[in-house]
Amino acid sequence: MVESVFMAELSWPEWEARIQAGAIIFLPLGATEQHGPHLPLNVDVILPTGVAERVARQVGGLVAPTLNYGYKSMPRSGGGQSFPGTASLDAATFSHTIRDVIRDMGLHGARRFVILNGHFENAWPSVEGLDLALRDLRAEGIRDVTAMRLEYWDFVTPATLDRIFPDGFPGTELEHASLIETSLMLLLRPDLVAVEKIPQEGRAQFPPYDIHPPPPGYLRASGVLADARGASAQIGQWLMDDHVRLISAAVREGFQLGG
Ligand code: ZN
Ligand code: MN
Repeated sequence: MVESVFMAELSWPEWEARIQAGAIIFLPLGATEQHGPHLPLNVDVILPTGVAERVARQVGGLVAPTLNYGYKSMPRSGGGQSFPGTASLDAATFSHTIRDVIRDMGLHGARRFVILNGHFENAWPSVEGLDLALRDLRAEGIRDVTAMRLEYWDFVTPATLDRIFPDGFPGTELEHASLIETSLMLLLRPDLVAVEKIPQEGRAQFPPYDIHPPPPGYLRASGVLADARGASAQIGQWLMDDHVRLISAAVREGFQLGG
């Protein structure tokens, strides 16, 4: 019996046995997106996968292959589509990919899912994919599939944010490639972080609206929206501890698991 928490490393009989024993499927949602000059394009893949792996170990889950592409990057939350290396999906493509994989796993017996998002812009298109999957399954007579859908960064205590941001938290949107993501990468994959290339600039300022296409000068040239200076693996550990503890508790509550 393979003990891996990653479902792609199991054989099909092992997968079936784990599902019949009640395993929850975690589906991390990522992106291939610029993250400034100091971080790789796969930050939004590594971070939700790392969180899902740790939570799945806590609650007896399986981590499905992460979606490595996400919905389009936006100027005020991700830097935007114009940066070389950012490769995104249309909303319909993205939501239909989620629909297809949840439907197929549901047809094969999976009944509980956690969609764990790691890329800001995936939020609503992932709701659409989940809704379509559940509709497909109902059409097949399968009505007992339930799913949680969450953004991992929401699972942090005010005390941790106060410790990390003594001058005030800039907000999740501006955290793109900034202190939080850089610190979590220093925890999980320090080999991929070029600390010496962290931009020496503060928070971006945006009006509370968008213009399409973005006018000249609207995008942050570096692709970093707040300030990553001071990032550390220690900060990453504080965040990861909160994410794993609070998401595990939410999964136990949401699916009424014991323990
Ligand atoms: Zn990111
Ligand atoms: Mn992103």
